[in-house]
Amino acid sequence: MTSLAGQVALITGASAPRGIGRAIAVRLAQGGARVVVTDTEGPVEIEGKAHQRSDLLNQLALQIGGLAVTLDVTKPDQIAGCIETVHQALGPVDILVNNAGSLAGSDNFLSTTPAQWQASFAVNLLGPMQLAQAVIPAMQAKGAGRIINIGSTGSLGAEPGFGAYTAMKHGLVGLSKTLAAEFGPDGILCNTVCPGYIATDMHMAANARLSQEQGVSLDEMKRRRYADVALRDAGTPEDVAEAVAYLAGPAGCYVTGINLPVTGGVPYGI
Ligand code: NDP
Repeated sequence: MTSLAGQVALITGASAPRGIGRAIAVRLAQGGARVVVTDTEGPVEIEGKAHQRSDLLNQLALQIGGLAVTLDVTKPDQIAGCIETVHQALGPVDILVNNAGSLAGSDNFLSTTPAQWQASFAVNLLGPMQLAQAVIPAMQAKGAGRIINIGSTGSLGAEPGFGAYTAMKHGLVGLSKTLAAEFGPDGILCNTVCPGYIATDMHMAANARLSQEQGVSLDEMKRRRYADVALRDAGTPEDVAEAVAYLAGPAGCYVTGINLPVTGGVPYGI
């Protein structure tokens, strides 16, 4: 296991039971990091059952011996409050993983409203920018830090129907490269991990939407989507978490400004 002993790692969007954020939190905790898991408040329906996000987050924190903090990344006051809470409880953040993301607002391009563009920008790009601004000064003071942004194959290419998401996820790559270039001299490394088809709730919801739109069964939709994958299957959240652990740990000490696809080998579209 990667040695992350003593490192404080903050992961956004970590409560979803089959989410990538949760797998990253578990993996970094296994590596020895003191992990802060964050997510929005409020109810969420999972397999027909109502849950509170905060309950899911607290259960995860208990499981990994971490700290749970409520954070909607679209709310600057909550970002400031979260960073302050972490400072007081554990000290400055050494590893920031901008995992929270949303497909919401992705639609047929001509139907997308300005409000949808703005909502997608707020969660997928502005939130990561503001979180980076909030943690970098303390990283500069330490002369070390890692920022890992969770992109997508939508960071690398495009397919129809995901305009807002794709534009924002491309922007995230620009953000990572900017941070790598601007703060490399301070010992801060920043990279993007680009998951492909990962079997999470969000991915399953996209499969369901596409199968409806294309008038085919869910199984047929999966067969069509994974036909493009060299490994012919979706990946797991744990596959993505391993890539994050590499970039967060000692083995990634000379790697910055890259996109690391974890896709099973897919063409990126256009
Ligand atoms: P999930 O929907 O399972 O998890 C995303 C998490 O982010 C949820 O807990 C969600 O909470 C949270 N979130 C959404 N909006 C906000 C917000 N404003 N503030 C804080 N948290 C928020 O998705 P995945 O685990 O699949 O996705 C994780 C990341 O991986 C995302 O950035 C996604 O774009 C990326 N990705 C995923 C792929 C996949 O196949 N699953 C493929 C490529 C990229 P809530 O439910 O309350 O909105």
